[in-house]
Amino acid sequence: MSELWHLTISEASERLRSRALSAVELTRAHLDRIRDVEDRVRAFVTVTDALALGAAETIDRRRAEGADLGPLAGIPIALKDVIATKGIRTTCSSKILERFVPPYNATVVERLEAAGVVLLGKTNMDEFAMGSSTENSAFFPTRNPWDLARVPGGSSGGSAAAVAAGEAMGALGSDTGGSVRQPGALTNTVALKPTYGRVSRFGLIAFASSLDQIGPFARNARDAAMLLGAVAGYDPLDSTSIPEPVPDYLAALTGDVKGLRIGVPREYAGEGVEPGVAAAIERATQTFRALGAEIGECSLPHTRYGVAAYYIIAPAEASANLARYDGVKYGLSLAEGDDPVAATRAAGFGAEVKRRIMLGTYALSAGYYDAYYLQAEKVRTLIKEDFDLAFERFDLLLSPTSPTVAFAIGAKIDDPYAMYLNDVFTIPANLAGIAGISIPAGFSEGLPVGAQLLAPRFGEPTILRAADAFQRVTDFHQHWPAALTAKKTRRRG
Ligand code: GLN
Repeated sequence: MSELWHLTISEASERLRSRALSAVELTRAHLDRIRDVEDRVRAFVTVTDALALGAAETIDRRRAEGADLGPLAGIPIALKDVIATKGIRTTCSSKILERFVPPYNATVVERLEAAGVVLLGKTNMDEFAMGSSTENSAFFPTRNPWDLARVPGGSSGGSAAAVAAGEAMGALGSDTGGSVRQPGALTNTVALKPTYGRVSRFGLIAFASSLDQIGPFARNARDAAMLLGAVAGYDPLDSTSIPEPVPDYLAALTGDVKGLRIGVPREYAGEGVEPGVAAAIERATQTFRALGAEIGECSLPHTRYGVAAYYIIAPAEASANLARYDGVKYGLSLAEGDDPVAATRAAGFGAEVKRRIMLGTYALSAGYYDAYYLQAEKVRTLIKEDFDLAFERFDLLLSPTSPTVAFAIGAKIDDPYAMYLNDVFTIPANLAGIAGISIPAGFSEGLPVGAQLLAPRFGEPTILRAADAFQRVTDFHQHWPAALTAKKTRRRG
């Protein structure tokens, strides 16, 4: 049985262009799917039904009038609720922004709207993008469509789950230490973290500004390439965005990886990696070898310090970025007691956010700055140099995205350190500013395993070419979660 929400973006795009399908039909199919499964998945904080249908009607009208619209015109997608949308509530899944309606759009939103994308709504996340399970949302946890008792990963768990469940054709998330790639791995979606500076951060509510990067979720590499192409590129409103021309990512998808040099980092294996994950990555390595890639071992010796350095640098930056939520300018405002600012923050921020602010202010305080923050920045340089050396010999690096498959809701929520270790293999790429992707690479006991491909800065074309070549000879990405096929019988009265 085939449904409209089964279509990939590129398939739907062709039907829309030939007018075999209307944007309204396609949007309705996704809104119906949301209605069918959302009580179980809970991927969305806000569904913008009326706006979506209005946007879809506009696209259909313009197409009927003969306008030459781009390939994404009429494609329904979802946005992580950390991306500012003009006139649409943007909460960061935090009580402190629960009622915040931005007066402007993020640059990525402007670009998607210009491309004619239909926005379905805003997706749930760990509060302020801090977490690896989406359980830190102040509103509700999102469930993994592959097993509703498990987490979808995080912090972009809502975006990942929405794409995995067929509620959206694609989505945007943000990746500071793995928050696009790790939920991608846990939900069997393609999830890309672009090079730092490739996609504008203007209107991305800041967590850790030197690490944050917006990236797409999709169901295959081609669709991810289309979404990246639409949002990438220099933006004068973001001083860290890089004036580097945007290549034609679709043209990079040649299917040919002969002679591509793929390194397998020794440190991204072993302890902590579940056997089922290791086995899937080993098979993925063989697949690339069979496609003609040259596989070799390499070493990234400072990997073991990555998580520690990240948990100094990211909280330090977060503590500065979150100082703006004082109940005075916007967001929650509690005029209680002698110290309304403290009252607002006490009630407005959740436990993990408070933990990060405390860690960050401590690491930056006089007397500790040199011992913690400065040391962490030095480690960051060493990690970057590890990659520089590895990329002298290899075009790409291949590893597990996450050491484990999706874990049970509640399993790690009381153990921050166990939660932080989800990102051992994703964090180094953010510290170095390089590009990475997670692609479906098989299943372990019925749960998805993601393979991570890393490339030097601006190596997105190589990453996408390899991911696409892999998907031409595998079908992991075409599987749908069985947990949602049993219709609504599990609903309680
Ligand atoms: N899980 C990591 C953290 O909690 C990464 C989050 C992210 O990439 N936004 O900080």
